[in-house]
Amino acid sequence: MKIVDVETFAVAPRWLFCRISTDEGLVGWGEPIVEGRADTVRAAVHELADYLIGQDPLRIEDHWQVLTKGGFYRGGPILSSAVAGIDQALWDIAGHHYGAPVHALLGGHVRDRVRMYTWVGGDEPAQVADTISEKIEQGFTAVKMNGSAAMSPVATSAETDEVLRRLAAAREVLGADRDVAVDFHGRVSAANARRLLPQMAPLHPLFVEEPVLPDLGGHLASLVACSSVPVAVGERCYHRSEFAAPLQAGVSVVQPDISHAGGISEVHRIAALAEMSGAVLAPHCPLGPIALAASLQVAFATPNFLIQEQSLGIHYNVGNDLLDYLVDPAVFHFVDGHVERPMGPGLGIRIDEDAVRRADAAGHRWRSPVWRHPDGAFAEW
Ligand SMILES: [Mg+2]
Repeated sequence: MKIVDVETFAVAPRWLFCRISTDEGLVGWGEPIVEGRADTVRAAVHELADYLIGQDPLRIEDHWQVLTKGGFYRGGPILSSAVAGIDQALWDIAGHHYGAPVHALLGGHVRDRVRMYTWVGGDEPAQVADTISEKIEQGFTAVKMNGSAAMSPVATSAETDEVLRRLAAAREVLGADRDVAVDFHGRVSAANARRLLPQMAPLHPLFVEEPVLPDLGGHLASLVACSSVPVAVGERCYHRSEFAAPLQAGVSVVQPDISHAGGISEVHRIAALAEMSGAVLAPHCPLGPIALAASLQVAFATPNFLIQEQSLGIHYNVGNDLLDYLVDPAVFHFVDGHVERPMGPGLGIRIDEDAVRRADAAGHRWRSPVWRHPDGAFAEW
């Protein structure tokens, strides 16, 4: 079997899909994307395709090595995301070739269903209590929300209280048997995080995510030590080597994104690395259906797994949503906040190719928002 074509599709709301086809008619799908940089990643995928055409698609690990290291310059979000989407598509082809879901090829399932969380509150979280009530009625047992809007580098008492008040409101609606995770999104300074985490601890968040920016990782050990709140990081780490320092600092939860961190191959390895530190995996996935399907395949095969993010109804999904490009959306049917094990071959989904080609014809130019502080200075989003 040989790879004969690598195609890419920029589809709304902000995603990029790739389709790898073979001379035997087998096809695999992947989702290589950096949000807001779809065209850049697309160019990288097509540069990497020069090597892939004519290759045996079943040599996934060898291709991962060559694509990741063979360009001499390595790492970073663009290359790692391009490799991630290709890796997903190759695993999809392998699953179809062997007639097995990817989790069976990774060693078999270690759980029967996977717990999911859902977003409540977007970039300017408000009215979270009402939204949480709706999600509870839908069966979810865990939610995640942004901790704050843009925040001053040294927060006022009012800004600090607002974060705590919102978390308390969420906890009151959720009760003691459900969970709320809080995303600081790198928009909270180390000083603010150090002040906030001990005050948040009595409200028992599931974890606090990106308490500081990835480039301020030197603060992680002190932030872990300053409270009992589990610290989560990893959506902006692209290789297992970038998880070593956070794990040594004592983070409890790693959140590699299967479309950024080298795909199924690398996220499976990152989970194993985390297991050595007693940390658990909660894959980042505010993305599309292929990224979620790939994440779930790893979740079912990973013992130290906590919970899975998914994007249904997320504030970014304007115009199109998670289920729009699937032939059978039932594969992502959530029951009691969990998803059942996908039994289909490969990634376990069937892509509506006509819908994808139509969406690509329209394309998209989604960009990350640019925020400003009240004084006009750049603010982290
Ligand atoms: Mg996040």
